[in-house]
Amino acid sequence: MRLDKFLTETTSHSRREVKTLLKQKRVTVNGDIATIAKQHIDPTSDVICLNNDVLHYQQYYYYMLNKPAGCITATHDATAKTVMDYIVSDDRRSDLFPVGRLDKDTTGLLLITNNGALAHDLLAPNKHVDKVYRARIAGIVGQKEIDAFAKGLTLDGGDITRPAHLTVKEVNQTAQTSEIELVIAEGKFHQVKRMFQACGMRVEQLERIAFATLTLDRNLKQGQYRALTPQEQQQLEAK
Ligand code: URA
Repeated sequence: MRLDKFLTETTSHSRREVKTLLKQKRVTVNGDIATIAKQHIDPTSDVICLNNDVLHYQQYYYYMLNKPAGCITATHDATAKTVMDYIVSDDRRSDLFPVGRLDKDTTGLLLITNNGALAHDLLAPNKHVDKVYRARIAGIVGQKEIDAFAKGLTLDGGDITRPAHLTVKEVNQTAQTSEIELVIAEGKFHQVKRMFQACGMRVEQLERIAFATLTLDRNLKQGQYRALTPQEQQQLEAK
């Protein structure tokens, strides 16, 4: 890896600032002053210091965001607010992206990372990674729907869903609504909404509470995020 790339990735300095720091002899590689931006270093074995402080290299970053409603799951958008806007500037890196997609009005757990291979694996249709949703449904959800979800539903357009586990948590007869929990092992476009639509019902509110090995941290208010713990990271990478 080039020394200047290492320095921009481990500090908040731009490439230009890094050049100046090198010129000013403020960087050392294994104790020797380094001044050449394109010098090759090994981030796993070389000791690189800036102003005598050792810089620690981290290849992958993982954040759990509690996505609020009203922002889109994208890295950039010309007009709309995106999930990346919730990442503070110190943590913002150009290679971060959200894993999968939650609708604009969906809230809850969204993984943001720069680990493309892991994201690819988690989203691969043949991996059947579990996603758990909580939702408020307009209508009374009962055994008929539980059985239909377990059997597999035919969505608009003809897609057939894999067996899904639907649990009714609470029914409000006055409001004619149901609170449900749903576990699905696939991620078709608008899947949860379309599954209920296939049963003649409408999703009023949708929140994702688990994804793969991760469970939404209830200490995170909507719009807040945190880095995954080393244990969460390990479990996810072992998936
Ligand atoms: N299913 C949906 O319909 N919307 C989401 O945001 C996620 C799953």
